[in-house]
Amino acid sequence: MNRREFVYAAAGAALLSGVGRLGAQPRRYDLIIRGGRVIDPSLRLDAVRDVGIVGGRIAAVEPTLSAEAAATLDARGKLVVPGLIDIHTHAARSAEGPGLLLRDGVTGWIDAGSAGADGIEAAVAVARTSPQPGRVLINIGRGGILPDGDTKDLALADVGAARAAIERHRDYVVGIKARLSETVVGSNDVEVLKRTQQAVEPLGLPVMIHMGQSPSSLRELLPLLKPGDIVTHLFAPPPNAIVDDDGRLLPEVLAARRRGIVFDVGNGVRDHIRWDTVEQIMGQGFWPDTISTDWNVMSRTTGVVDFANCMSKYLGFGMSVSDVIACATINAARTFTVFRDLGTLNVGAPADVAVLELRDGEFEFLDNYENTIKGSQRLFPSETVLRGVRVPRA
Ligand SMILES: [Zn+2]
Repeated sequence: MNRREFVYAAAGAALLSGVGRLGAQPRRYDLIIRGGRVIDPSLRLDAVRDVGIVGGRIAAVEPTLSAEAAATLDARGKLVVPGLIDIHTHAARSAEGPGLLLRDGVTGWIDAGSAGADGIEAAVAVARTSPQPGRVLINIGRGGILPDGDTKDLALADVGAARAAIERHRDYVVGIKARLSETVVGSNDVEVLKRTQQAVEPLGLPVMIHMGQSPSSLRELLPLLKPGDIVTHLFAPPPNAIVDDDGRLLPEVLAARRRGIVFDVGNGVRDHIRWDTVEQIMGQGFWPDTISTDWNVMSRTTGVVDFANCMSKYLGFGMSVSDVIACATINAARTFTVFRDLGTLNVGAPADVAVLELRDGEFEFLDNYENTIKGSQRLFPSETVLRGVRVPRA
């Protein structure tokens, strides 16, 4: 029995001893989250419910739970959703990153290419000590993110170095990242992407590309992706957006989605989102599969702020609250195997829960070009429960 199986068996035993049989309610819960509006797109659930937790797992989601609880969390007037999963962050840049994300409701994170082969140990060390599951995409550029461009010097796109680093850290490096903007790759985007695929080919790991302002068209780049690969910054404006000069979606983009390639937001601060491009793309019914922040420890003071803010931006473009929650929970959980059991409040699932506030009012949302749109609703982080334990508020 490996460690994961052991944890599973132990939790299962705890559940069984409390529950008696599946479906019946235990006599006592470790924690009940009471009276919130539970929105779980994985269950098509949007209703006021109590959520009962035993042994770090969801034990019941019912209109009312009458059994005793060691602790209760009053969620009346708030949203109770699966713990948020952010597949594009830079949380592994510093030790305090994961804890800050956790307070914002983020119970799983991916660091998208902060470090290359040369700096991977430090990034993996942050992931190892993270309270919530955190994993790393290695940058194909062996120096990681460089001010002068990760792979403008093609020698930095070192397949052997990347592959060796992945093999040293198979448990924490779950994929690879290639940043393909002209300022990062010069004119090397096609070659860099080929090398990126080559580095993970024997291991079958996913590639995430950072699109937008690349020297080559996505018509050339997207066919180099395989099912399960991720395109981040899907709302990046031209040149080389996912729409052509007339604002029409490229046929290659639709073909990529049909093949199982994931389109992710990656909010960030520069060059990734412009409201007129968002309007063009979403107006054609092309919505993101996943919403992510491109977060770092400075994000509180930028247009990112927190994950809930990044999610709220799309309420103004036709998405419902449940739609944006799906992009930050179940859809995100499906992108990396480390999250396969998460993103849901299914009975039996690990009890990772985000309590959010949905406030009505007048809110301004920033793109990456100092343009604002107004919205009448904004989600705010409130409480986080990780594996059944309430996270202290800072
Ligand atoms: Zn990023």
